[in-house]
Amino acid sequence: MGHFMKADLKIDNIYHINPEMLKNLGIKGILFDIDNTLEEYATETPSDKTIDFIKRLNDEGFKTGILSNAKEERADKFIKGFTGEDFNIYCCAKAGKPLKKGFAIMADKMNLNLNEIAMVGDQLYTDILGGNKAGCYTILVNPINVKIEPWFVRFKRFLEKPFM
Ligand SMILES: [Mg+2]
Repeated sequence: MGHFMKADLKIDNIYHINPEMLKNLGIKGILFDIDNTLEEYATETPSDKTIDFIKRLNDEGFKTGILSNAKEERADKFIKGFTGEDFNIYCCAKAGKPLKKGFAIMADKMNLNLNEIAMVGDQLYTDILGGNKAGCYTILVNPINVKIEPWFVRFKRFLEKPFM
């Protein structure tokens, strides 16, 4: 399982994503985790900064997606922040990361192959392990703010430490 726990790329935060680099790798779609990747833990709606960022990726020609283990109500509420303009964004809640299921659903929705998709997330055991197993390009970001996470997420981070 060792190499499945290793991200293809590590960056500080989502704003360090380099569109040209991803295009050169043949990436056409970018999936994002919500909690501590796009926004702080349990943020209900995307910030203007995040909305602008997704719009910019769409303008660059990327399809984008939210792949979250959160419940539908939460993910639906979050994704509504991207309506009003013609966003190229898809959503899959209860993704069951690190299972491949959610990644396959998104590949289907985006009409892309799994190897044309990048997964961006802050957690090795869900985002990176799942993305690697699914055959996606994986990008690990530093969590935005770990101080307000519940104990079970902090515990997962503790388990991830040896792989970081
Ligand atoms: Mg997260």
